[in-house]
Amino acid sequence: MNFPADLKSIQERVLAINPKKYGASRNHKSGSVTRLSPYIARGVISTRMVFQHILDLDLPYFHSVKLIQELAWRDYWQQVWIVKGNAIDSDLKHEQSAVSNHAVPTALIQARTGIEAIDIATQELYNTGYMHNHMRMYIASITCNISHSHWFQPAQWMYANLLDGDWASNALSWQWVAGANANKKYYANQENINNFFESDQSDTFLDVSYEQFETMETPPILKVTENFELKTELPTNKNLVLNAQLPTCVYSYYNLDPKWRQDKTANRVLILEPSFFTKYPVAQKPLDFALSLSENIEGIQVFVGEFDELQKLAGTSTMIFKEHPTNLHFKGTQDERDWMFSVKGFFPSFFAFWKKCNKELK
Ligand SMILES: Cc1cc2nc3c(=O)[nH]c(=O)nc-3n(C[C@H](O)[C@H](O)[C@H](O)COP(=O)(O)OP(=O)(O)OC[C@H]3O[C@@H](n4cnc5c(N)ncnc54)[C@H](O)[C@@H]3O)c2cc1C
Repeated sequence: MNFPADLKSIQERVLAINPKKYGASRNHKSGSVTRLSPYIARGVISTRMVFQHILDLDLPYFHSVKLIQELAWRDYWQQVWIVKGNAIDSDLKHEQSAVSNHAVPTALIQARTGIEAIDIATQELYNTGYMHNHMRMYIASITCNISHSHWFQPAQWMYANLLDGDWASNALSWQWVAGANANKKYYANQENINNFFESDQSDTFLDVSYEQFETMETPPILKVTENFELKTELPTNKNLVLNAQLPTCVYSYYNLDPKWRQDKTANRVLILEPSFFTKYPVAQKPLDFALSLSENIEGIQVFVGEFDELQKLAGTSTMIFKEHPTNLHFKGTQDERDWMFSVKGFFPSFFAFWKKCNKELK
């Protein structure tokens, strides 16, 4: 499983998607998932672009709808982030119940929970920066609902290691599993994991019936926890060369779109703000991946510093950036992002959002 950063390989990955196979197999470890999220999360390609490609395939509705719906989940979480802002950092709908700690199980971090499929997937996350959606749910479930860790720090740990780290999809999915952004908690037992993740384990702490989960004691292996602490190692600044007569297109960890205002002559700067990476720390691998992706942007320069410092260096140049909840302090001209549907704003559930999107689809 690798994630090349060049545009040709990314385009090939888009062309390789098979919506029909996807719908039938996406929950399985070897299912036909797209592995496009690292490119979508970093803003290299948009959900709209992938959606358009699916429409161009001209498949019957029932063959393409599952993938379209999954893509719409990302837009949905982004809309929630736009409306709720930093409130997504706290329990959104209900306080997470039965919390015993605000840290991360050490056995999870060290990939030695004893659930083989989970430990293999965690090691793969460290090696590749990717994890299957179903596995993310299993991990969030044992962490929040069996170890009784509050979701926030474990979500930070997972986000920090994912190439596709997207705080809205991440924090809100963790909350969904923990019952803080849903009406019930999500559980999966060993049988479920064996079934979807090609393992054949028994006699583990997950080898129980669903009725047993509510009253289950935390197994000793999950009782030891540690705080998640990570300082992102940002590169050192090189001399920035800016032409104050030209506008400055400001790229960020969430916007590395090489086609954005491509036809305009402009300064192009990827800003890595220390304050942003203090709030949303990432490991070296995702940071290096983002830096590699930025090389697709012609003339890009990297600046480590805060937006107001960049603005001072740019003098009279007009700053231009794409809308994003982490850019609220940017000043200048804001471009809109691409969305799949015209449906905007907060919906209390994905299905309320999807109902409106689906009308535009049909
Ligand atoms: C606990 C947890 C944490 C998560 N953290 C992140 C995260 O930090 N960043 C991230 O991008 N996604 C996150 N997701 C959502 C989902 O797991 C990934 O988007 C998906 O696994 C990416 O792999 P893929 O591109 O092969 O997905 P595919 O299954 O091929 O789906 C195609 C695209 O649809 C979108 N998508 C699919 N499922 C979801 C979903 N459940 N929520 C939102 N968008 C979805 C993605 O853009 C994805 O690229 C998380 C899910 C859970 C349960």
